[in-house]
Amino acid sequence: MRLKEIYEKKNVCHNRAFEWVKPVISFEVFPPKSNTGGFYGELNKLKEYEPAFISLTYGAAGKNNTSLEVLYRIKNELRMDLMAHLTCAGSSRGNIEEWLGEIELLGAENVLALRGDIPEDCSPGDFRYASELIRFIKEKTDLSVGAAGYPEGHIECPDLFADIANLKKKTDAGADVIYTQLFFDNDKFFSYVQLVRDAGIEVPIIPGIMPVISKKQIERITSMAKISVPGALLNRIEKFKDNPSDMLKLGIDFAVIQCQQLIDAEVSGLHFYTLNKAYSTAQILDNIMGVPNGAE
Ligand code: FAD
Repeated sequence: MRLKEIYEKKNVCHNRAFEWVKPVISFEVFPPKSNTGGFYGELNKLKEYEPAFISLTYGAAGKNNTSLEVLYRIKNELRMDLMAHLTCAGSSRGNIEEWLGEIELLGAENVLALRGDIPEDCSPGDFRYASELIRFIKEKTDLSVGAAGYPEGHIECPDLFADIANLKKKTDAGADVIYTQLFFDNDKFFSYVQLVRDAGIEVPIIPGIMPVISKKQIERITSMAKISVPGALLNRIEKFKDNPSDMLKLGIDFAVIQCQQLIDAEVSGLHFYTLNKAYSTAQILDNIMGVPNGAE
């Protein structure tokens, strides 16, 4: 199903003491480097949670050898819908058009159109910004298009308002949905949504959720992107840094509260950065949604 239609349907549930709107669930994974059996096994576990689609990342500068095969298997063997990521930095118009043709052939209906990180070792490519890629995809294909949003601003952009003005160029070019970078502070997300709406952007804004799994993971992502970690969470990460099972539990418990607040605010969807592992995401969903397949 196409992104636009996916978020238009309201799934009202009655399995609690009150009515609530169940958000659309989607899972992000990256092409496995090895042990593909393990990868498809994890996807099969995630499938029980009936995601609207699996979103598969794309290597920087077209370094993406295995992704078409992985997309094919997810679509045709696991029978799950897709959002294929595509980055344009370092790529030519011709290469992008060829790849778009391939993903349409294998049955993908959705693409997350990104600039990607600019490669140091090759030419910048034919598209400067994601907005140019989005316009190109809309001209050449029938794909539904997602774009990236940054609740605390993109790392290269010193001013959140300028970043949101650039986000508007992506929706003006035809982006149907915005998927955010992961964040740990819901207030930052809520005020971002308000600013985005004030800028005249009306498409769904889907929060990105990544459960904490280790101190190293948090140090890495906060060094690469503008993502603040609330002090209380940082203290607990420090406390459990040498205890993997307590750290996993902390990540799950924190994300459950975070997701619950987002659901209460009636977000249209929750997009999970799974890191190719089902366990934490499944535990979070068991807590916030009840048993898979609505069997409670
Ligand atoms: P753009 O929207 O082009 O923005 C890049 C920068 O340029 C921003 O600072 C923006 O403010 C500025 N800008 C935009 N337009 C203009 C303009 N017209 N004039 C001046 N400045 C402008 N990376 C991967 O390599 N593979 C992936 O699969 C991948 N998946 C992602 C999924 C999500 C949900 C998110 C949030 C990010 C993902 N990324 C991925 C990371 C992304 O590629 C990087 O954050 C990249 O640096 C920016 O991509 P963008 O599409 O947001 O770029």
